[in-house]
Amino acid sequence: MRKDTKEAISNPVFTKIVDSSRDLDLETYVIGGFVRDFLLGNKAPKDIDIVTVGSGIALARKVAEKLSGKPRVQVFKNFGTAMVHYQDFELEFVGARKESYRKESRKPTVENGSLEDDQKRRDFTINTLAISLNKSTYGQLLDPFQGLQDLQKGIIRTPLDPEITYSDDPLRMLRAIRFAAQLDFEIEISSLQAITTHKERIRIVSRERIVDELHKIMLCKKPSTGLRLLHKTELMPLILPELSALEGIEEVEGQRHKDNFWHTLEVVDNISRNTDDLWLRWAALLHDIGKAPTKKFDKKIGWTFHAHEFVGSKMVYKLFKRLRMPLNEKMKFVQKMVLLSSRPVILSKDFVTDSAVRRLIFDAGDHIDALMTLCEADITTKNPARQKKYLRNFKLVRKKITEVEERDRIRNFQPPISGELIMATFNIPPSKEIGVIKDAIKEAILDGEIPNEHQPAYKFMLDQGRKLGLKPIKDQD
Ligand code: ATP
Ligand code: MG
Repeated sequence: MRKDTKEAISNPVFTKIVDSSRDLDLETYVIGGFVRDFLLGNKAPKDIDIVTVGSGIALARKVAEKLSGKPRVQVFKNFGTAMVHYQDFELEFVGARKESYRKESRKPTVENGSLEDDQKRRDFTINTLAISLNKSTYGQLLDPFQGLQDLQKGIIRTPLDPEITYSDDPLRMLRAIRFAAQLDFEIEISSLQAITTHKERIRIVSRERIVDELHKIMLCKKPSTGLRLLHKTELMPLILPELSALEGIEEVEGQRHKDNFWHTLEVVDNISRNTDDLWLRWAALLHDIGKAPTKKFDKKIGWTFHAHEFVGSKMVYKLFKRLRMPLNEKMKFVQKMVLLSSRPVILSKDFVTDSAVRRLIFDAGDHIDALMTLCEADITTKNPARQKKYLRNFKLVRKKITEVEERDRIRNFQPPISGELIMATFNIPPSKEIGVIKDAIKEAILDGEIPNEHQPAYKFMLDQGRKLGLKPIKDQD
């Protein structure tokens, strides 16, 4: 833990703030995430929150005047805050305030207050820490809620009664869980209880803010820490009911299936060791969601989840829509990963034929590597021999993919024969036959009947056309 708080404010930008504050006869502090992350020894944060007892907007204007290039001051009158972008810093100025909340909204009524009032209104003790930017107390840490101690012990605790803190602004429930996941901290027991008690209040938080926090959890080194807490506090069914539905093991006639909720958490942690790609991590989170609605017990074969990949990929769309996540190529990527998530597994079990590999490359396109990463993460067996075997099989599949890929260039497949050429060759107008011929060529290439090259494909086209009763133009008249 770092202690040298003067070091935290050694950047010349702080000198300007100190001078401006003195000019205006204000009392000013740097507070919150900046102080927390500095003390933790994390990379120096770029967003710096400045609180002053008085007008934050006036202070921001004064500071901007003194900074080279006189950066613009962005004023948010309604919030009484102002923002200045300087170099790669984002300086946010706010007047110290007291807050009181009404039931229906996350937005409090505010009045001016002291530094301590302002510290009280903050979410967690580790976020209340302030460093003085005033002449007489310069560099001193102001810590009325033992935030430093919590930082050292790794505890998320609220400065006031947690019942009030979480009920006032339920976004804090997710922030608590997110910080616990990011910092690998424990949420103190009365906080955990208060979150559980007030979980239903999450409904007044906008979906955008919820997703923001979910993304941050998913980007942690070990996302399961956050997901586990969402489960423990019973927030999960309110936010991601598709995942909660995967929990549990059923037994019929002595046959059990695995608990797909806990399995999923393991898969997410596994993949997070191999990729920082947010959307691939989401794909891991959602890869099995189709299993809840498709689960059936069959007397002969036991538990089945027929077509769960297809059902799951449809559910991805609904989930993204409900949470107001982007319905763009990111969503399509997640859908594709879910849809294809079992394909490499099937390959790795059977004898791998070239044509099966070609079809997989054709379907996955540029996402073939991502798909293999997902499938490798999907191995959660605790049997070391089996795990080794599965991994070895996937290695073989990867090798085969590289070989087939070098030879046949199936990725982002472009048909070697165009529709125009087919029309010109047989002298026919746009018609159904063209699609039939193109499709036959594609299938022949994927099956390995012909190589992915112009000449053999051209010859194949002539044969196909003839089968359909078409005559090439050079044979006509
Ligand atoms: P990060 O930037 O990593 O999300 P942070 O702690 O800096 O972490 P911000 O959202 O930037 O979080 O907020 C800055 C500070 O404002 C916090 O440190 C905290 O003191 C306070 N704060 C933010 N959101 C809330 C909230 N919902 N309730 C109470 N205080 C909050
Ligand atoms: Mg911040």
